[in-house]
Order: sequence, then structure tokens, then C-alpha cells
Amino acid sequence: MNTPLRALAAAACLLLLSACATAPGGQGAQPGGEAVLEVVASTSVYADVARAVGGSDVHVGALVDKTSQDPHSYEATARDKLAVSKADVVIANGGGYDPFMDALAQGLSLPDGAMIHAVDFQAGHGEAAGAAAPTAQDHAGHDHAQGNEHVWFDVHTVGALARGLAAEYSKLLPGKSARFTAAADAFDKRIDALAGRIDTLRATAQGKKFAMTEPLGFYLLTEAGMVDGTPAGVSAAMEAGEDVPPLLLRQLAQGLESHEFAVLALNTQTSGPQTEKVAALATAAGVPVLDLTETLPDGLNYITWMESNVQQLEVALGR
Ligand SMILES: [Zn+2]
Repeated sequence: MNTPLRALAAAACLLLLSACATAPGGQGAQPGGEAVLEVVASTSVYADVARAVGGSDVHVGALVDKTSQDPHSYEATARDKLAVSKADVVIANGGGYDPFMDALAQGLSLPDGAMIHAVDFQAGHGEAAGAAAPTAQDHAGHDHAQGNEHVWFDVHTVGALARGLAAEYSKLLPGKSARFTAAADAFDKRIDALAGRIDTLRATAQGKKFAMTEPLGFYLLTEAGMVDGTPAGVSAAMEAGEDVPPLLLRQLAQGLESHEFAVLALNTQTSGPQTEKVAALATAAGVPVLDLTETLPDGLNYITWMESNVQQLEVALGR
């Protein structure tokens, strides 16, 4: 190759390299040529919130998006790794729920604040309560309320997360900031309406005991004023897929038969022979069963899903 040609080739390489290197994160383009943020969430729950806030300015994917999958035991694929490597914003639940997200994001040069954990938006979390911007702290040693990681059943946490997402999107696409903020406001209004409905339930629910096969609906039920009466050790064993000791199972059965428990919250997504047996006991005893899932059921978004969960509770408590 003669010298001028070599120089040309080198220049072309440089151009190509810089074209790749300067594209911020994985930002793609809309048909109109505008930037679109790539967002990857661990589950369909957070993907839906990400979409509600970002609208057509975001392209969102979820690693776990079927209610036939168990997020607790999910193992990431090579495809997931590729998706996360191209993301501008990564959303995980945190709190030990989806450690595969942190593993996938490790070593990536995500901008500051672009790795988002929903648990950081729980009220009273760390120094910064409520909607304050999350910090990328190590989660080891964090002590979350009751150790319950299913924080998306707390509608306030999800409302705060929506605001946090709007702030993060706005940093990356400042020109769209007003749109993101307006979308988060609209989302938060519907969260407020949900919270109002849960508050109304308190009149009937206050002080009543519930039992649960897994600690899934904990935040929703306790916000309605109910008290967790599940014998200690039952939920943890069921969630871990272990056999519940016979003595505990008998206590649970007795609580259902004696109507000590007003409702049984059932995690239908990770059920097994034991949970099915407990559900059958509840039905036989006439104790209402709430069917809950870890991720979004088909055809629902976060808001309509939580509305249907609240409605199940309203029906169970005879409202
Ligand atoms: Zn769970």
C-alpha cells in the first residue's frame, strides 16, 4: 500500500472508531433521527414504569417478562448481557432480588446514576428519604424494612422511582426534560389515587391478620393496615423452594381453619405442591385467596395491575 492510500485507510478507521466511540451509551435513533434512550430492566414491572415515564423517547426491554418465569432463580443469558451492555439506563430491584443485573452491569462504563435500584426509592431508605436521587452504593449490609425485597408492591416506592427515572432521563436527554417530568407527574397522580384507595381500605382492614405463602404482597397489605400473621419461617422457606417444617405448616393450616387470617396472599408465580396445598386449605376454610404474581400479568400495566390487586383485597374484605 502506498503512503497516501495508507493514510486514507487510517483516516477512515479513525472516523469509524470515533463514530462508534462518541455515540453516548447505546442511544439509538427514532425514525425522525432523534435520540432514543436504551433502557433495560430486570423485570416487566420496572420496564413498564420506565416506558410510562419515557414514552417514545425510550426503548425498553425486560429480562424477565413472563409470569411463567421465577425472577428469584433467573439466570441471565448471553443475550441479556448484550442488551445490558448497550443500555443507557439499567433498572434493577436490588435488595438481593435480582443480583444478575448487577453482575451484568459490572465492568460497564455506565454514566453516574444510570444503574438504578428500586429499593433506593423506599421512603426512609438511607440518609435520603423518598424521591432523592439514588446513589450507587454497595448494597451489602443494607437493612431494608422487614427485609422484604418486593418493594414494587409499595406504590409510593414506585411513584418515587418514576420521578427518579424522569430525572435520569432528563440528564441524558436534556431537551426532553419537560416531557419526562410531565409523564412522571401523570404517573404519580395515578399512584396517589391508588394510595387513596388503599387508605380507604383501612376502615375494614385495620388490624386484621393475613398469611402469605411468600412475602410478595407484604407492603400492599400492611399499608392497608393489616398485620402479617404468617408463622415465622413459612414464607422464607417457601420462597427458597424448601419444604416448610410440618409444625409450621400445621400452624398455618390452623390459622386458616380458625379464620385467624382474613386473607391468604398467594404467589402464583412461584407456586409448588406446598403452596397449592395451603391455597386449597384456605379455600376449604372459606378464607379468601389473593392471587399475586412477581411480574406483570399479560395485558396489564403497573397501575392497572395494582388496581386489580387492590380490588382483590376489597372483594376479599367484603367492601
Ligand atoms: Zn418473590
